[in-house]
Amino acid sequence: MALIGWIGLGRMGFPMALRLVKAGHGVRGFDLSEESLSRAAAAGIHPVGSVAEAVEDCDFVFTMLPEGADVSSVYLGTQGILENAPTKATLIDSSTISIESCAKLHELSEAAGFSFVDAPVSGGTMGAEAATLTFMVGCRPETFEKVRQVVEPMAGNIFHTGGATTGQAAKICNNLILFINLASTAEGAVLANRLGIDRKVFWELASVSSADSWPLRNWYPMPDAVPSAASSRGFDDPTFTVRLAYKDVSLAVEAAQGVGSSVRLGEMVQSLYEDLIESGFGEKDCSILSDRM
Ligand code: NAD
Repeated sequence: MALIGWIGLGRMGFPMALRLVKAGHGVRGFDLSEESLSRAAAAGIHPVGSVAEAVEDCDFVFTMLPEGADVSSVYLGTQGILENAPTKATLIDSSTISIESCAKLHELSEAAGFSFVDAPVSGGTMGAEAATLTFMVGCRPETFEKVRQVVEPMAGNIFHTGGATTGQAAKICNNLILFINLASTAEGAVLANRLGIDRKVFWELASVSSADSWPLRNWYPMPDAVPSAASSRGFDDPTFTVRLAYKDVSLAVEAAQGVGSSVRLGEMVQSLYEDLIESGFGEKDCSILSDRM
């Protein structure tokens, strides 16, 4: 069994790290939030007070943090991963970050003698809790088998997408589709409601018709059709915040500009999320898009 350092025990990181504990690995966890650390400690993750302590003598280091700047901050500097982990450790970032930040982390980690892997995930907090996440893994072929074995207890599907940064590229495109689907679902759901169709009836028929999609089934943005959806609790207690959705769509728009690809729908969804953040809804659930329809 391996010794694992885990940085970022939030909505995704905590249930993912817990699966590694249940699989028999030793997991040392660090998070800036005391509340997250206490929850982790109660569940069998060994809490530590710094990144340096978490990664000491580890076989694997995972990061599950909000943005590229957060990941860079825990990798670099005297208290960071590159200064304090042993070079035998495989470094795996499962956050969703820009291709550019990811490329920089590959480059700096390799220069310091490490194997760095981009391994973002899809499946949401439900997938993290049920250990059915899809992993998109960008790394050298010789590193993939090691990564496959360690992520297996958290995963439903594991894809080797290719070399450095291809995991992030796949994830960014997946989430562009997700948030455009969510926005289109919000438009249709609100319109159906205003046209007088019972919410539950419309949801039931759409979920077995051509409007079906992952966000329709899991994140339906009108209340009372899907009890576990954030719309049924006033978009509070988010599983995926507006702020993170804006980040992901923006990453796709930025990546598209870099290769001359048109993402006009993505730009519209990006501006919807920007308005929500400016109106103070950044920490609400991302399905609150229906409030703008
Ligand atoms: P979250 O905000 O719930 O958790 C992030 C955690 O990181 C928090 O507990 C925070 O305290 C901690 N943190 C931030 N900076 C830190 C630092 N410097 N050192 C240590 N801890 C630090 O976010 P989340 O929803 O778990 O998302 C994490 C990543 O996973 C994001 O990149 C997101 O885009 C991606 N993601 C989220 C989902 C989802 O459904 N929520 C699904 C797939 C991927």
